[in-house]
Amino acid sequence: MFIEKANSSTYDLTELNERFIHATPEEVLHFVINEFYPDLSMTASFKISSIVLMHMINRIKNNFPVVFIDTGFHFVETLKLREQLINDFGYNIITLHPEISKEELNRNYGQELYNTDPDLCCHINKVEPLKKYMKNSNIMNWIAGLRKDQSPSRQNVDMFMNDADGFLRIHPLIYWTWNDVWSYIRANKLPYLSLYDNGYTSVGCSPESCTTKNSIENGERNGRWKDFYKTECGLHNELINYELNIDS
Ligand code: SF4
Repeated sequence: MFIEKANSSTYDLTELNERFIHATPEEVLHFVINEFYPDLSMTASFKISSIVLMHMINRIKNNFPVVFIDTGFHFVETLKLREQLINDFGYNIITLHPEISKEELNRNYGQELYNTDPDLCCHINKVEPLKKYMKNSNIMNWIAGLRKDQSPSRQNVDMFMNDADGFLRIHPLIYWTWNDVWSYIRANKLPYLSLYDNGYTSVGCSPESCTTKNSIENGERNGRWKDFYKTECGLHNELINYELNIDS
């Protein structure tokens, strides 16, 4: 028998955020998987929060689709971890690619767009492929690993939020801290990016203008786009009152 799943618009988000304020991430995930799956996906860039969420979700729903955007600029370590997660842990990782090749990118926008216009670079290489995927797959409910303690700009992000495109954004780890995440990773012996052992506190694309070494005392995301007035890749901008909208 076909059972129609709930639509995110069925819910009062204020009520949902209040109802789950003291819930564990696993309780939140049980709820959203039961309510929305298969109209539900997760984005991951394999930073520590993604690794925790993927593990929690796979315990509830094996083979859950996890979307990774291969910008073409990732660290070798990130791509190796993706292979490990697929081959050794059996995760169902869907890899998206930008619409245009690096040659076209350079030809149309100049060399090293990440240095001259990182917002545009993120938009072309991250936001556009994801939005296209979401539109084509008709998925309207989207889990990501944002946490309030990652940066001042993420302080106002809620567990459940709607964005301008009508997506329901779900952040089960929103109240977790850096230490909570590491405790979970260690307790469950999960794999993680080796770059964290080498002075990085947040890992995105490999150009130095996008990801640099950092001390956690300065804020987890302080090593990202250090020389720019930019704290987000564009996937989540709208949620934190930026011009654009969308764990990068
Ligand atoms: S993080 Fe840097 S290289 Fe990656 S898409 Fe954004 S600007 Fe481009």
